[in-house]
Amino acid sequence: MHMDRTIGGCGCDSIAATGDLTSVDDALACALQQVTELTGTDRVSLDDAMGRITAQPLVAPAALPLFDNSAMDGFAFRRSDLDGRCCLPVAGTVAAGDAPRDLPPGTALRIFTGAPLPTSADTVVMIEACIDKGTKVHIETAPARGANMRLKGSDQAEGQTIIATRTRVAPHHIGLLAANGVTHVEVVRRPRVAVFSTGDELGHGPLGPGQIPDANRPMLRALLRQAGADICDLGVLPDDMKTTARALGALNDRFDLIVTTGAVSMGGKDHIQAALVAAGGTVKGWRVALKPGKPVLFGTLERAAFTGLPGNPFAVHVGFHLFLSAQLARLTGRTPRPFASVPAIAGFDWSRKTGRAEVFPVRRLGYDDMGRPVLERLGNSVSATLLPLTAADGLAMVAADCANVTNGAPLTWHPFCQAEAGDA
Ligand code: AMP
Ligand code: MG
Repeated sequence: MHMDRTIGGCGCDSIAATGDLTSVDDALACALQQVTELTGTDRVSLDDAMGRITAQPLVAPAALPLFDNSAMDGFAFRRSDLDGRCCLPVAGTVAAGDAPRDLPPGTALRIFTGAPLPTSADTVVMIEACIDKGTKVHIETAPARGANMRLKGSDQAEGQTIIATRTRVAPHHIGLLAANGVTHVEVVRRPRVAVFSTGDELGHGPLGPGQIPDANRPMLRALLRQAGADICDLGVLPDDMKTTARALGALNDRFDLIVTTGAVSMGGKDHIQAALVAAGGTVKGWRVALKPGKPVLFGTLERAAFTGLPGNPFAVHVGFHLFLSAQLARLTGRTPRPFASVPAIAGFDWSRKTGRAEVFPVRRLGYDDMGRPVLERLGNSVSATLLPLTAADGLAMVAADCANVTNGAPLTWHPFCQAEAGDA
């Protein structure tokens, strides 16, 4: 038997169970122990790079700007030619896209933003400080030497690292790479994740008596896809140990992570744990001091990490943000973003039963006078519904020993908006 857990305990060395439940921190450490950084990479075009993780530092192939150019529409000239005068003859025009032109001594060239500077020019005056008289220009306010020029290499040097390794590619990275003439980028391969739901109650099409639709798989697919995973949807499995064990056994080491929902509790139909073991897997941790999501199970099946989430759809959502997103981060070589670590203030009073950390949806009501978000608690502690999340800006978590939250007290939360969370 490949089972190194005890019911209510866990096989991870790092785990110290609190009562018969594992603390959230230890459970997260256990989840992370089951995954290691992927080594494979893909070479993708910029169009396909959005959201991918860079596999190496990206180095500037050239200095930028590529050549000295004008920062303004105006006139380019030699500053010394203006000493004692305020008018210069105009020798011509140079626009963006033109080849660099010569500047005859004692003259000015009409120049547009981005146009290459004539080699001997050392100053640009903006059009607003001149009177353009066609064949000559009257310069009302003489700028300092070097004004309004963008010099070659002043933005970045050739060979400089412009995007660090293990960066999630955002639109501005794509713009920067394009500005550097880069067309393809080496990224970490997508984590391969298998997903299935369990439950005889899950129907599709017209529902029979006692049936409900599968909410978890579509939500998990969306969450995993958003996090950059390559998903294999294995559908719904019945509440039958042998069928589930056969399905797990047929995965043939093709995945980095296997995610299931339901059947990890202690009821008579909760066969995931036994099925994992029967398929040759190992259970590393089970049961977390967490609400919702107490029966979460961590393990391995051949090379893959195995994360069994409970069936309650809100627990699945929490399990993704708390455990799966950290596992995906580690797989792609990134430091997991700590869950619910952004400071905020409670905008509500709440008394609760201690013993388990609790995660709940929150809405930002506004900001206090120190700029901290003030949060309203949404939903209640018993329901599995996802409905409160539609009004939520994120999730908040209170510690297992927290009995009361008072209006104005500090609280930490997990904004859904990554920018707000300070996530790169
Ligand atoms: P379980 O963890 O399998 O005992 O399921 C706990 C609760 O979640 C039960 O009410 C299930 O009917 C429900 N549930 C399980 N899986 C799903 C699913 N995929 N979609 C919606 N509800 C589910
Ligand atoms: Mg079930």
